[in-house]
Amino acid sequence: MESLYRKYRPLTFDSVVGQQHIVSTLEHAITEGRLSHAYLFCGPRGTGKTTMARILAKALLCRNAEAARAEGASGCMPDGTCEECELIAEGNHPDVYELDAASRTGVDNVREEIINSVNFAPVRGKYKIYIIDEVHMLTTAAFNALLKTLEEPPAHVIFVLCTTDPQKILETILSRCQRFDFHRIGNEDIERRLAYVCEQEGFDYDDEALAIVARHAKGGMRDALSTLEQLSVFGNGSVHADDARSLLGEVSDQILGEFSRAIADRDVAELYGLIRAQVEEGNDLLELTRDLVAHVRDVYVACVAGARAELFEGGSEQAEALAAEAAAFGEHPADRLARVLTVLDDAALEMRGASDVRLVLEIACTRLARPEADLTIEALAERVARLEAMVANGAVPASVAAAQAAAPAASVPAAAQQPTLISGARAAAPAASAAPAATSARQGGMPWDRVLLFRLPSLRPVLLFRLPSLRPVLRPCQLQACSACTSACADSDASARCGSRACHRSGT
Ligand SMILES: [Zn+2]
Repeated sequence: MESLYRKYRPLTFDSVVGQQHIVSTLEHAITEGRLSHAYLFCGPRGTGKTTMARILAKALLCRNAEAARAEGASGCMPDGTCEECELIAEGNHPDVYELDAASRTGVDNVREEIINSVNFAPVRGKYKIYIIDEVHMLTTAAFNALLKTLEEPPAHVIFVLCTTDPQKILETILSRCQRFDFHRIGNEDIERRLAYVCEQEGFDYDDEALAIVARHAKGGMRDALSTLEQLSVFGNGSVHADDARSLLGEVSDQILGEFSRAIADRDVAELYGLIRAQVEEGNDLLELTRDLVAHVRDVYVACVAGARAELFEGGSEQAEALAAEAAAFGEHPADRLARVLTVLDDAALEMRGASDVRLVLEIACTRLARPEADLTIEALAERVARLEAMVANGAVPASVAAAQAAAPAASVPAAAQQPTLISGARAAAPAASAAPAATSARQGGMPWDRVLLFRLPSLRPVLLFRLPSLRPVLRPCQLQACSACTSACADSDASARCGSRACHRSGT
């Protein structure tokens, strides 16, 4: 059985998908008789470079080309059906040389296969076309040997150099070629083509499966068609989303949504449960993390740019769902989402070399759900933002802690509590945002300022150094303050504060 990507390789300019800018330029050049003697086709793999080179060869050698040349063109729009066109499509035309530079890189190969043969007249038609694939693999000596021929080839010779890596090609070669950049093919174009192939082949398919395949192909039609073929064999002629997901290891949007909600709600238990479910299903956690980054990125876009349908593949429905997800990230969703992206992206990088990828992901999720467990400046900023939001809302956060056991929580004046933003150093504070008052005295946490003062110097001296610019929290009177005084000193009334290091209230 012939593979799908070979069977459905475009035979004419009309059937090329997604490279309209190149097709129309080449068509003009052919009809106006203004062909260059060397072309450079650059672009990611599977975007149709070799296919386009073959179609260009057909345009010059097709049976109809002779008549077109009589009218001043250099070729014709190939029909794809005459003998010449078919020979080219099969790779058997004696005047079309396809060389794979990846396997024949040396100067001797170039001399033998190109330089020594260019001067001979074509066998069947008017032109000889040299298609050199992966041309960046040639050695420098081979490039230099080719240079002279490339600059002034005989009139009947046309070179088409194809590469995925144009940066590696010598400047002297680049300047002798007309360069065309192939774009990644859009997902919609790929889906349309896949649907067409499914109909031709009589596959039973659903649109979601094709969307998954297209997304994974990352703009390469050859990859998309190979995956489709694999799926059709797996499903015995039917192509379904579930199969596509399990074959490609893709996690559904619903699961990704659950992950992002759990991060937004700071629900560590839920996150661990979700990770466990993924492990049990045998999914690749690295792939999952990448999908999650892609998903959170969409949430971030919806958050910053608003629910605009044109920004998302799923249209307005997806845009609104994403915007709702973004709203779950609290007061400053953009900042939090940016941090989620950074942490997850770092985790994905780390996972590539980690012995236990699950642990890396779990730690990353914990850091996201509980900034208390994370002593980076971003995490601290997130905590400060959260506390500020709580003050603005008039919520009384985790209270004045067990350090003040002497003064029962009930006896602390409400006014004094307000700005005393205390959150347990390592406390289970995710709950604090949900039910701040309830967590209070049980935790035995330390005042926020003290956490910074006493814990940071040993852990991260640099952080302490940078903190004054983050928030002016270090006041001399709190250095030695007893627990009763801490609440008094943090009172917004400046006159209540002492100027010395000793406590003015209790005298300790
Ligand atoms: Zn033809």
